[in-house]
Amino acid sequence: MSKQLQVELTAPNGHRYTQPLGLFINNEWHPSSNGGVITSINPSNEQAIATVEAASESDIDKAVKAARKALRDPSWSEMSGTDRGKLMRRLVQLIEENRETLATIEAWDNGKPYSVALNEDLVETSETLLYYAGYADKIFGQVIETTPAKFAYTVREPVGVCGQIIPWNYPLSMAAWKLGPALACGNTVVLKPAEQTPLSILFVATLIKKAGFPPGVINIVNGYGPVAGAALATHMDVDKVAFTGSAATAKQIMKLASSNLKSITLEAGGKSPLLVFNDADLDNAVEWAHIGIMSNQGQICTATSRILVQSDLYDKFVAAFRARVKSVSKVGDPFDAQTFQGPQVTKAQYDRIRSYVDIGKDEGATLEMGGERPTAANKGFFIEPTVFTGVSPTMRIFQEEVFGPFVVIGRFESEDKAVELANDTQYGLGAAVFTTDLTRAHRVARRIEAGMVWINSSNDSDWRIPFGGVKASGIGRELGEAGLAAYSNIKAIHVNMAVRSK
Ligand code: NAD
Repeated sequence: MSKQLQVELTAPNGHRYTQPLGLFINNEWHPSSNGGVITSINPSNEQAIATVEAASESDIDKAVKAARKALRDPSWSEMSGTDRGKLMRRLVQLIEENRETLATIEAWDNGKPYSVALNEDLVETSETLLYYAGYADKIFGQVIETTPAKFAYTVREPVGVCGQIIPWNYPLSMAAWKLGPALACGNTVVLKPAEQTPLSILFVATLIKKAGFPPGVINIVNGYGPVAGAALATHMDVDKVAFTGSAATAKQIMKLASSNLKSITLEAGGKSPLLVFNDADLDNAVEWAHIGIMSNQGQICTATSRILVQSDLYDKFVAAFRARVKSVSKVGDPFDAQTFQGPQVTKAQYDRIRSYVDIGKDEGATLEMGGERPTAANKGFFIEPTVFTGVSPTMRIFQEEVFGPFVVIGRFESEDKAVELANDTQYGLGAAVFTTDLTRAHRVARRIEAGMVWINSSNDSDWRIPFGGVKASGIGRELGEAGLAAYSNIKAIHVNMAVRSK
């Protein structure tokens, strides 16, 4: 009997839908070749939602072969940029028609509040794809003159078969960040979602087929990182790998991708600082500092997880920040409209945060609030928003990415010290600066070692603006026009017009 590759599900909010379970290769659903599966767990009650197929190395090979064949097939290779853009827009239209279903799956599988999934993640997913759909017919080269007899022109060609490995914190929008520029430039893709959140993207796969993408252009294969992810990163017929996740895995991928010198884009984590100067608007700083670390259960690569406050404002800031966390960060059921913070995505992440609470205490920092499972929750990976003060730069809780609703607050005296502390990290993803002094704002923004700086704000991210880090936070840029660079190769064609005399 052939394996059942879809199941009818009813989500906690009563929403009913058909959940695909297979590996999406060549626009068809496949079982795993070695029987591998992933059971996705509802982080709110620790119960299984569904069991999907997990790719083996040979399944990855099958997906790569499909992507290679599609890359050469005229149905894709000769499709005009305009038509590629239309296909992408058709996909967005289908995503929009199914946005409640997709937001439901996201809240159920990941634990983020339904309203956030619907009004933020889904919007970002559609807008990112639409933005890049607009570029599909605007990717062209240059004509460069050299001598009167010679010139060259450049063409921008797709890189080829792109392996894309994404994390669980924004399952759909991370997929859109990677698919958008890849498709606009005419590449084909094998996308491996995170094993913690395999469900929503499989539903999108049904829409990809419905939109009319030729078989093999987009392949979606769930699987475990060290098996499927590693097979993709090392595969000799994959031309590029794009990754978002931890710095430790990014380093492994860099090694694996050296097998055939793949082009790489890596977006790893951070320990982003948020500086509050004495002259800052306190209410504004507190509001953004809260958003910057407590949104999305603190599971954001750019989270401003190190708050540094100038001495005169320090006590007032800590008191106001505590009050803000208490009044806004309601922890609970993702389907409850009042909920600000759902559960952490997995037990592993929950345990990781709890272990950092112990580390912080052992290091002698002061636990201002949180650090426990909320008393009302006896099931699920819920954790109270956690704030430490009394920290120093040598502490692990000051240096290491926790990836949860967990923040340290330190103090500084001078602007130089603020910059020194901000840069005292292996990471360099984002940084926020709160001040009403215009020149200081821009001066500090330039001195901070980071890929993005927010002035009087935190964690702004927009599909039109380049996103990425320096130092151990990554290589390359996503989003904006800059995000296209990683997905096309420039070919120079030299022309000699001189007439050779016989
Ligand atoms: P991870 O880096 O292990 O996983 C991210 C992706 O990489 C997943 O798809 C995973 O399957 C894949 N992967 C894992 N090992 C691989 C390998 N050897 N080869 C190829 N692919 C591999 O992250 P995680 O374990 O899910 O989370 C751990 C920590 O990573 C978090 O606590 C957080 O600090 C960080 N993180 C960062 C981001 C981000 O947006 N930058 C996202 C998620 C997690």
